Amino acid sequence: MKKGKTKIVATLGPATSSYEMIKKLTLAGASMFRLNTSHGTMEGHLENIKNIRKVSEELGLYIPYMIDLQGPKIRVGNIPFPIEIKCGDKIILKAGAYEEDSDIIPVDYDGIADDVMAGDRILLDDGKVGLQVLDIKDEKIYAEVLYGEEIKPRKGINLPGSTASLDAVTKRDKEFIKFAVENGADYIAQSFVREATDVIMAKKYIRACGGDIPVIAKIEKPQAVKNLDEIIYEADGIMVARGDLGIEMSPAEVPIIQKNIIDKTIKQRRVCIVATQMLESMIEEPIPTRAEASDIANAIVDGADAVMLSGETAMGKYPVEAVAMMREIANNTENCKFCLSNLILDINEHYELSPQAISNAAVKMAQDLHAKAILAFSHTGYTPKLLAKLRPSVPIIAISDMEKTCRKLNLYWGITPSCKDWDAVLDTTILKEIDKYILENTSFKKDERIIIIGSIPKLITGRTNFIRVHRIGAEDEQNKKCGC
Ligand code: PGA
Ligand code: MN
Repeated sequence: MKKGKTKIVATLGPATSSYEMIKKLTLAGASMFRLNTSHGTMEGHLENIKNIRKVSEELGLYIPYMIDLQGPKIRVGNIPFPIEIKCGDKIILKAGAYEEDSDIIPVDYDGIADDVMAGDRILLDDGKVGLQVLDIKDEKIYAEVLYGEEIKPRKGINLPGSTASLDAVTKRDKEFIKFAVENGADYIAQSFVREATDVIMAKKYIRACGGDIPVIAKIEKPQAVKNLDEIIYEADGIMVARGDLGIEMSPAEVPIIQKNIIDKTIKQRRVCIVATQMLESMIEEPIPTRAEASDIANAIVDGADAVMLSGETAMGKYPVEAVAMMREIANNTENCKFCLSNLILDINEHYELSPQAISNAAVKMAQDLHAKAILAFSHTGYTPKLLAKLRPSVPIIAISDMEKTCRKLNLYWGITPSCKDWDAVLDTTILKEIDKYILENTSFKKDERIIIIGSIPKLITGRTNFIRVHRIGAEDEQNKKCGC
C-alpha cells in the first residue's frame, strides 16, 4: 500500500464504481473518495459508500468520503442527442424541458433570461462552446455561436461575471445533504460558493438534518475570490476548483490565485485541496505530461494538504495509474527543501491558545531532538488539524477513540490516523502500550525519540495541555535519567 504525507482525493465515476476498483485506487495511494452528485444516482452513490467502508475496514484504514454538491450550477437540459453548431450560427436558449420539434435548447434554470444581458458571454461544456447574447425576448435568449462544435445534454453553463440569482443551496443540494447526513458522510463540498453566507446556509441545513459534517467551500467564482477571507473563516476547508474558476476567470489568473488561496487557508488553519486537470492527459494516456507533474509538485510546495483527481479516475482509461503517478510525484516532492516545512505559525485568535502553542513547540522539539514522529492524542481531531498546518518534517500519528475523527484526519497533510481506545492516564502501562504499537506499526526503532502530545489527566478527551519527549521502548527510569 502506497502511503505519503500528501493526501490524494479520487473522484469515483463509471470507470471506478466497483469494490475492486475502489480497493485498487486505495492500494495505489488514494486517501479520500469524492462522490460527485452532479452525476450518477443516489443508489449508485450508496453502493460506492458501502464499498469504500468495506475496503477501509478490510485494509485497516480510515478512508473518508466527500459528497460534492452540484450547487447553483446551470446545465443544458436533457436534449436527446448532441446538437451540432458552428461559428456564426444563431441559437435560442430557454429555461424549461426539451420539447420535440423545437429548435430551442432547454436550460435547467428558470432565471437564466433575467441573469444575462445583450453582449454577455455564455460558456458551455467547460468553455468548449462560447456564445454571445444578442437579444432577450419572451424569456428566450437569442445568441450567436462564437466557437464550438456541439452542444451536449447536461453539460454545464457558465455565465462569467454574473452573480446568477440561484439559491446557494438548491433543492437538489438539500436532498443530497439529507443523504449525506443519513449515510454518515465525512465531508461535504459546496460548489459555486459566492460569499460566506452561502456556507452558513449549507451548515444550517446540515444541522437541520441532524448532522455535523465539515464543509469544504469550492472557490470557483470571481465573487468567491473577492470574498475569500470570510469564506475561509466560515468553512472547514477550501478547494481550489480550477476547472470552473478557469472558465469564469482567465486561466492566466488561476496560478497566482491558487497560491493566494492556499496561503490564506493555511493562515486560517483550514484544510486545503487543489483540484482539476492535475493529470488531465492521463484520461487518455498512461503517462502524464511533464507540465502536469510539475503542477502537482507546485501545489504541494505551495502547501496544499491534498491534490485531487476528477475525470482521470471517474471516467479515464488509466484511473489506477493516475493515482499511482500522483502518489509518486507527491512522494518525490513532499520532503523537498522548497516545500513549506516545520512552520511556527502566529497564534490565531479563532482557536484555543494551548493547542496552538503546543503544536508549535512539538514541531520545533521534533526538529531539535531529531525525533521520528509526533504522536498526538485527540478525541475530535482539534489539535492534530492545527499541527498538520505546520507541515512538520516528521509524520504525525493521530490517535483517537473515534473512527469518524480518524477518517476526517486522513485528509490532512502528514497525518496517519489510528483508532484506539486509550483514554487512559499517562503512566508506565500506557507508555508500554504506546511503545508496542510504535514498534509493531512503524519502522521506528527502540531508543529513538518521539514527541507525545495530549491532555492530562485523560490522554484523549481533554484539550491538549502537555508535551513529552519519549524514548521508544526505554524503561521509565532510563527515560527519566537521560532527560531524554
Ligand atoms: P467540479 O469542481 O469538478 O465539481 O466542477 C471542480 C472544479 O470546478 O474545478
Ligand atoms: Mn466546478
